[in-house]
Amino acid sequence: MLELSMMLAKLKLNQWKSEDEFKQIQEQKFKQLFSYAKEYSPYYRKTLKDCTFSNLEDLPNLPLTMKKSLQSAPDDFLSSKFTKKSLIKSSSSGSTGVPVDIYHDRSEAHFGPGFELHQFTEAGVNPFDSQIRITHNDYKQNFIQKLGIFRRKHLPFSNSPQKNLQIIKHGPQKVLIGFTSVLVPLARANLETRAKAKIIFTSGEVLSESDRKLISESFSCPVRDMYGCVETSWIAWECEEGSMHLFSDYLIAEIVDDDYRPTKGSGNIVITPLWKRSMPLIRYFLTDQTAIAKRCKCGRGSTVIKPVIGRDDDFIVLKNGSKLSPAVISCALNDVNVKEYQIVQNAIDDFVFKYVPAKGLDLVNLKKIFKDQIGDANIEFEELDKISCTRTGKRKKIITRI
Ligand SMILES: [Zn+2]
Repeated sequence: MLELSMMLAKLKLNQWKSEDEFKQIQEQKFKQLFSYAKEYSPYYRKTLKDCTFSNLEDLPNLPLTMKKSLQSAPDDFLSSKFTKKSLIKSSSSGSTGVPVDIYHDRSEAHFGPGFELHQFTEAGVNPFDSQIRITHNDYKQNFIQKLGIFRRKHLPFSNSPQKNLQIIKHGPQKVLIGFTSVLVPLARANLETRAKAKIIFTSGEVLSESDRKLISESFSCPVRDMYGCVETSWIAWECEEGSMHLFSDYLIAEIVDDDYRPTKGSGNIVITPLWKRSMPLIRYFLTDQTAIAKRCKCGRGSTVIKPVIGRDDDFIVLKNGSKLSPAVISCALNDVNVKEYQIVQNAIDDFVFKYVPAKGLDLVNLKKIFKDQIGDANIEFEELDKISCTRTGKRKKIITRI
């Protein structure tokens, strides 16, 4: 709790620092991370063996860390200062259908909630607002919420929007949180129910201007987007001027072109979380596309990025016309131990669910979760040794043939 309060105080204070001051913080933190990773992480001991770092100009000369390296040997990344048994595992949804196992130590557990609390409090959320997150059933409360502060109720996205809206409508105005693709059908259904919210936070997928307008108008409240991923935690948050500010005091973001060279234009984002020690990540390449934007007029000195694109994978189209995103399905399947999967939609009510089992696969639950998401449809489950790639090397999670 103390660490979290201190982190929050630092975020509040640091956000008004100048660009140069942020660079100084980054350089100093990166130096420490660089020597730490070289010494304690087997992966970086190998890949950074002949590399040196004296200032941020040297950063583009260091090798990128690709997702496939992390997927194939996550243990190689773990710091020898921690025992694997003591670490907490979380799996990313993985935009290519292969989840990535990420570990963190209890001493690092406050970072994710700290980033989230910063964006919530900057948007005017107070500790006793009633929060509702639309997610899968087994979502765990973080340690702050267990203490009764910033408490959050979870509603399953397998509920019909109407059912969730009745709960949202009851009592004081809520703070709503969820994937964009979950909030859009909810907002559509709410055009009849007319529940109001205090503020809505979207994440997980691209938020188009039309979706933002729909959600905002339906619930008569502002909408703020958040950007992050399981591997690096939260990356950017939206200020009152609508700019996506990076957490520049806790991470370094770079933009690289298709040849992995630094670019001032649009490209793929590369993230180095400066706070991770149990599983350091240096220059982690994400498939999300963005560009560095101009400084924000709100006065905060942290780097601003343009709206992130390239996250919109294929969606499943349901009978009622709503779309189901890969992020929603991955999130629901988090605990069933499936190694890889791919969903082929042949018709509006005809699916093939291909999967590669991991140790301890809970097939009964997997089938139940998927059926709950899809509703009344013909589903064939097919067990495979591996999911084949497309010609471009992508392993898509959803293939639609309708
Ligand atoms: Zn701003």
